[in-house]
Amino acid sequence: MENIISNENVDILKVENAKKIIIDLQNELMSCLKDGCGPFLAAIYDSNNNLIAKCVNSVVKENCSNNHAEMNTIKLVQEKLKTYDLAPFNFKMYITAEPCMMCLGAIMWSGIKEIYYSVSSEDVEKITGFDEGFKPKWLEEFKKRGITVYGNIEADLGKNVLQEYVRLGNTIYKPSR
Ligand SMILES: [Zn+2]
Repeated sequence: MENIISNENVDILKVENAKKIIIDLQNELMSCLKDGCGPFLAAIYDSNNNLIAKCVNSVVKENCSNNHAEMNTIKLVQEKLKTYDLAPFNFKMYITAEPCMMCLGAIMWSGIKEIYYSVSSEDVEKITGFDEGFKPKWLEEFKKRGITVYGNIEADLGKNVLQEYVRLGNTIYKPSR
């Protein structure tokens, strides 16, 4: 295992499964960057590894600071299933980067049970200049609430995608201060 981080004892099978999904997500994200999308992509899967929904970040396209990939995906699935509580479904979320401060809240209140992310917030901030917020002890806080977290999955691939976003000169959106 490279530098996988988790809030449980690392389960190799979960990591192997997550790697496959995250590689596909990173490749898909890379190929849509030139159309101005991203640079983040999230997908929700059920416990049998069926894809339920997948959304890209659409902050710039839709002029809404809420529209992070995780937010868009949760909203789509809850609308589809007509419920605000996804807990009974045992859903998993796979994300091309560590969730920001806003998305941690959204994930916590959505009822999603497991999250798997690729690039750390620290690297997102270093590469792009986005502000990911402040998230004290969030892995422990998620564990307390029964949400399993795995991170740093195929992070080098994810860093390349973010570097490409910056190279293309796409928007690093943030409020003016
Ligand atoms: Zn976010």
